Amino acid sequence: MEKIPFLTKEKAEQIAADFPTPFYVYDEKGIRETCKNLYKAFSWNKGFREYFAVKATPNPFIINILREYDCGCDCSSMTELMLSNAIGADGDHIMFSSNDTPPEEFAYADKLGAIINLDDITHIDILEKTLCKLPERISCRYNPGGYFKISNNIMDNPGDAKYGLTTEQIFEAFRILKAKGVKEFGIHAFLASNTVTNEYYPTLAAILFDLAVKLKKAIGANIKFVNMSGGIGIPYKPEQEPNDIFEIGANVKKVYDEILVKNGMGDVAIYTELGRYMLAPNGALVTRAINQKHIHKEYIGVDACAANLMRPAIYGAYHHITVLGKENDKANCKYDITGSLCENNDKFAIDRLLPKIDMGDLLYIHDAGAHGFSMGYNYNGKLRSSEILLKEDGSYAMIRRAETPKDYFATFDCFEDLYNKLINRG
Ligand SMILES: *Cc1c(COP(=O)(O)O)cnc(C)c1O
Repeated sequence: MEKIPFLTKEKAEQIAADFPTPFYVYDEKGIRETCKNLYKAFSWNKGFREYFAVKATPNPFIINILREYDCGCDCSSMTELMLSNAIGADGDHIMFSSNDTPPEEFAYADKLGAIINLDDITHIDILEKTLCKLPERISCRYNPGGYFKISNNIMDNPGDAKYGLTTEQIFEAFRILKAKGVKEFGIHAFLASNTVTNEYYPTLAAILFDLAVKLKKAIGANIKFVNMSGGIGIPYKPEQEPNDIFEIGANVKKVYDEILVKNGMGDVAIYTELGRYMLAPNGALVTRAINQKHIHKEYIGVDACAANLMRPAIYGAYHHITVLGKENDKANCKYDITGSLCENNDKFAIDRLLPKIDMGDLLYIHDAGAHGFSMGYNYNGKLRSSEILLKEDGSYAMIRRAETPKDYFATFDCFEDLYNKLINRG
């Protein structure tokens, strides 16, 4: 599918005049449409709820748009819990899907009334010791091991993943939890990431629904929800076909009817914890070409770097790039697009065919709205950029300011001193 930026060169230049590049920009219209369609696709399920994976795009303004559709927050750390609490999410709207969890985070999650999703059987003891009393509602994360296959294609390797309880353990855990007075149960699994096939959720659903029936029969557990977590991907490459959320929803319904309804469990709610699917295409990194060099290859240096968007550097991930204003020009120049880190993997694109780039051109790096800004870091003293929300009426607002050198110095104990000396010296 052709990849078209959600903003024009004119709009990007207008924003850049107020907020210097690089910046992240998010498309409110796209976010709302994605969210509405997800809820429509699962409207057949009475209790359906998306718990947005906060780690994907931890910006309160973005999450508050999703909250208008009754989305909750999926958290896995203290500060993500704090953020969700700060924006007003109640316990029913907070899923705590953590792993390697420190006890104080369980305590805080419980204080908020969040749904705790246990990643390990040993956490039952820890939870019991940490809280005076186990919560009445608990979820467990499942890891069936082996390979996760869809029609004989290996999608991912749960047997090699650190998450979740084995089949044996989840039965044992439910037995213990029920004996200890837990009244409501959920099951959760995340078995493949960034899937670009409509079959992932239905295949996963069949596994989890089957497990739910068995847990109910064997233990009498009152299963309230099945959480299919994240994993629905997006077509980062133009030649990929996007997922069809309506087909996904309809096919999950088929398995739901075949397995759960047939076994008298037609009241189980479906939860999701999508991050990438909700936000990735609805955010972009906009950066300006500031240097060019012609050595053994042709390089274009931009004012963003891997510290702003690390996916290409760590995963070799493909992010499509559009040179704004040159959408219709021939892509007949081969470039490496680089940032300024002292790391040769700091490249947004390698051997990419693009229209001829002139200094000052704005580059639009697609699909950066999830796991983009949030994976940023400060290596080489690089500072995080601003985040801008492009509203439905075409106006825009800054929803996070860019970091300043003062922020960079802020965690030194002698910060005041150091920073002031620096300033006074001019
Ligand atoms: C990262 C994560 C998600 C979101 O994954 P996406 O690939 O962005 O959909 C959901 N749940 C948990 C527990 C996660 O760790």
